[in-house]
Amino acid sequence: MNTTAPLIDPFARAISYLRVSVTDRCDFRCVYCMAENMTFLPKAELLSLEELDRLCSSFVNLGVKKLRITGGEPLVRRGIMTFFEAMGRHLETGALDELTLTTNGSQLSRFAQPLYDLGMRRINVSLDTLKDDKFAAITRWGRLPQVLAGIEAPAPRVCALKSMWLRSKGSMRMSCSTSNPGAHSTIWTSPLSR
Ligand code: SF4
Repeated sequence: MNTTAPLIDPFARAISYLRVSVTDRCDFRCVYCMAENMTFLPKAELLSLEELDRLCSSFVNLGVKKLRITGGEPLVRRGIMTFFEAMGRHLETGALDELTLTTNGSQLSRFAQPLYDLGMRRINVSLDTLKDDKFAAITRWGRLPQVLAGIEAPAPRVCALKSMWLRSKGSMRMSCSTSNPGAHSTIWTSPLSR
């Protein structure tokens, strides 16, 4: 339940959507994003998982209803499930309508089920191409089969009822939805063309 005045933007609209980056690290090195030899922020300069919980819970208390977790790659942060479990309690109480994640998909085969179990129902997977060699060239350290294995992990596998390729503003988008309300709905988006 909100106990304080909601957040309002300069046009008097209530702010209900928050994106939070939980790490600057990633297990890929996409050519358009990072140098191969990156220097990341010292860990001491990042918010701890407890501080992220406190921050996000404060925003939920101020009226945020949809929370998207991003990185870097959020699933490579050590102990990140502790944070997701903490956010899951806001789904349980109804304070939060949706908890979502933007990921490169590399860790999904491990995390899809626990994320589903704590209430996550939608994940965005960044995927630049479906060609193995191009994928390896773009991401440097990424391998397509690893990502596809994550997308096909047990929790989201039921989503593949409808898919379509869209081209808009030079982007490639594949959306996948389901008629099963209890299943993951997954959307792939890409900043690059095929
Ligand atoms: S997967 Fe995302 S965060 Fe990681 S290097 Fe590629 S674009 Fe950057």
